[in-house]
Amino acid sequence: MKITIVGTGYVGLVSGTCFAETGNRVVCVDIDQTKVDKLSSGVITIYEPGLEKLFQRNLKEGRLHFTTNLADGVKNAQIIFLALPTPPGEDGNADLKYVLEVAKDLGRILQPGDYKVIVDKSTVPVGTADKVRNTILESGKAEGKNITTAFDVVSNPEFLREGVAVSDFMKPDRVVIGTSTEKASKIMGELYAPFVRQGNPIIYMDEKSAELTKYAANSFLATKITFMNEIARLCELLGADVDMVRKGIGSDERIGRRFLFPGIGYGGSCLPKDVQALAKSSAEANYNFKILDAVMKVNEAQKTYIIPKIKTYFNGELKGKHFALWGLAFKPNTDDIREAPALYIIDALLAEGATITAFDPEAMNNVKGVKGEAIAYAEDQYTALKNADALIIATEWSEFRTPEFDQIAILLKKKVIFDGRNLFDLNQMQQLGYYYASVGRVIV
Ligand code: NAD
Repeated sequence: MKITIVGTGYVGLVSGTCFAETGNRVVCVDIDQTKVDKLSSGVITIYEPGLEKLFQRNLKEGRLHFTTNLADGVKNAQIIFLALPTPPGEDGNADLKYVLEVAKDLGRILQPGDYKVIVDKSTVPVGTADKVRNTILESGKAEGKNITTAFDVVSNPEFLREGVAVSDFMKPDRVVIGTSTEKASKIMGELYAPFVRQGNPIIYMDEKSAELTKYAANSFLATKITFMNEIARLCELLGADVDMVRKGIGSDERIGRRFLFPGIGYGGSCLPKDVQALAKSSAEANYNFKILDAVMKVNEAQKTYIIPKIKTYFNGELKGKHFALWGLAFKPNTDDIREAPALYIIDALLAEGATITAFDPEAMNNVKGVKGEAIAYAEDQYTALKNADALIIATEWSEFRTPEFDQIAILLKKKVIFDGRNLFDLNQMQQLGYYYASVGRVIV
């Protein structure tokens, strides 16, 4: 099939590459000229495990192309995906300006008799498929065209997780296709057939249900994490161990083992904005979705939850203290720092007059882009420790899990670790003589 992806960020580049991998001819369109130039010349623009190999192969085979020209990009496409940003607007709802601008452009480009399926892959509020359809129609009408039968708009939310995006895309748990036309259903079903050969379902539904499914999924996940973060806080107050509680409840199939790890809050480009957008959509529908308000409030506080612990350890005075910070990305295996808890920790420490040397395997350049020289950056995890008063861990990268504790002890001024991701065993840390503060676990 001939496919165009508009928006070549995390979702667009992964989707485009994976569609090319199953034999489709894919054109990726982006307004960012630098990005398009890099990608066209074989330089990948995001870090995502396994993506580079697929990207290089499909680029070489001529199945993957990049352009900034939308009209050229969609000329031969049977299916056009919109993988555009939907950041929070001023009112908290998803800002649809990127999606609707492209819809307007598509209205100018589409021609009667040349049918295309337009797919919303961005996470968008209920009713957006209708808005996209109307925007395209009106813009076509303004050009004197009737393109009513030249396209259908489908909602096909994306559930990939950054860090494992390629395997999530190639073998999705499910594919959700929201459409009310048989023609579009059939085309989308054919496109996705190679991805669900193991029997995972393609679930067909109407556009609105598909749009809400994505928000419901992310809000549920955010709620699950937040619930555990609250249990962790209670564990600290009551002297229970959240690891034990987690195992105790996770073995119940109704609850499941995943997404039960407490920490310093969820971040990233999706969960925070999607919970906020669903709360806003609910309010607009005159429904007060109370759980979501609590989730947002708890998560906001959770991101800097270790700061009071650090302050208490240093007798309330952080001015002049120097910290090593391991982990900047919002989660491991990505360079994405959007809404990363580490950034909130950095701001809180700098505001107290502390200094920081950070290390992250992939995200340091992105942090340099927003924080500049406000903090120092180390070449490796051990160099970051030099002369620091304590180590703070904000992201659970695998290489942080079994570090050389002897080295840490030599490089830090004192053996002090504040672990926001519960990487180490409490008993081991006690035996090694570390002051070790983690989340929801206290040494009794
Ligand atoms: P992103 O910011 O990484 O990428 C968006 C891309 O769109 C950028 O490259 C930008 O230059 C480009 N763009 C902006 N305006 C454009 C225009 N007019 N024409 C062409 N390109 C344009 O965003 P993302 O993380 O890929 O997210 C895209 C959507 O997918 C969002 O709605 C997001 O909520 C959703 N989503 C993201 C993830 C994820 O893990 N990142 C997962 C599922 C769903």
